[in-house]
Amino acid sequence: MDLDLYSEEEVKNAQLFNDESIIVSKITEKKEVMEEIPQQKKDNIEIENCFKIITECKNSKQLLIVLQYLSGVANHLRNIIRSKCIKTNENACAQSFTQEELDSILKYLNWLKNTSDNLKTLFAPPLRKDNSFDPNSIKPFKTSSYKFCNYSDLCLVHKNKNKNCDKNHFVFEMIINDIIKLIESLKILELNNLNWVFLNKYLLTEFDIETKKYSVVQSEIQVTIVDQETQFQVDKNLICKSFDVISFVLNKMYDEATSFLNSNNKSLLINL
Ligand SMILES: [Zn+2]
Repeated sequence: MDLDLYSEEEVKNAQLFNDESIIVSKITEKKEVMEEIPQQKKDNIEIENCFKIITECKNSKQLLIVLQYLSGVANHLRNIIRSKCIKTNENACAQSFTQEELDSILKYLNWLKNTSDNLKTLFAPPLRKDNSFDPNSIKPFKTSSYKFCNYSDLCLVHKNKNKNCDKNHFVFEMIINDIIKLIESLKILELNNLNWVFLNKYLLTEFDIETKKYSVVQSEIQVTIVDQETQFQVDKNLICKSFDVISFVLNKMYDEATSFLNSNNKSLLINL
């Protein structure tokens, strides 16, 4: 598991979000995440229109729209997954997914991945070296660790090219990696196993080094991990966390970019 260590000073100036801390963050930041969604996002966009808009941006107006859809789609997916988490023991159907729902989630996730890929060259790459950013991880539903700069759009890196910031501002490479991991993990599970964990049950996934394939075993109770390197337990909280991270990060980047794109204010981190 990843663990980021910080000095007191760093903690004050950064917002931490990683595999370990996310459960705590979820409780303490839930309100903030909800409040971070500007009103215009809910009012002005129809989520399914994301497939129709131009995602190769030539100006700040186009970029603003695409970023709006990125955070809107990510929030939409997070809400779908969260709605399945509500404990309704008498109504198990409400917690299960249909094949159509799963296909739709994968379609939106692919759009998030491809669109983030289109946008990444418009933003300066992050300087922060993150040990948790591991494209080769075999752990299902693995997410990166993020430490966003608390100065956000007021950070000097936006205005002064001689200044560096070692916290996260725009992290498209990292979030693309996390989205790819989520898509792959959902495909490993398939519908039957996905619905199994959303009934508050567990899965043991095992990676075969030779064949590079996963096997999945269902369990009523928490599973015993024998081999920490190749065996991983999956429960619904792990899956929800992946969607939380993607929504959180895309909203953070949307908010930071918006303050520049909505005005004639130029940021050195945005190449438009
Ligand atoms: Zn900064």
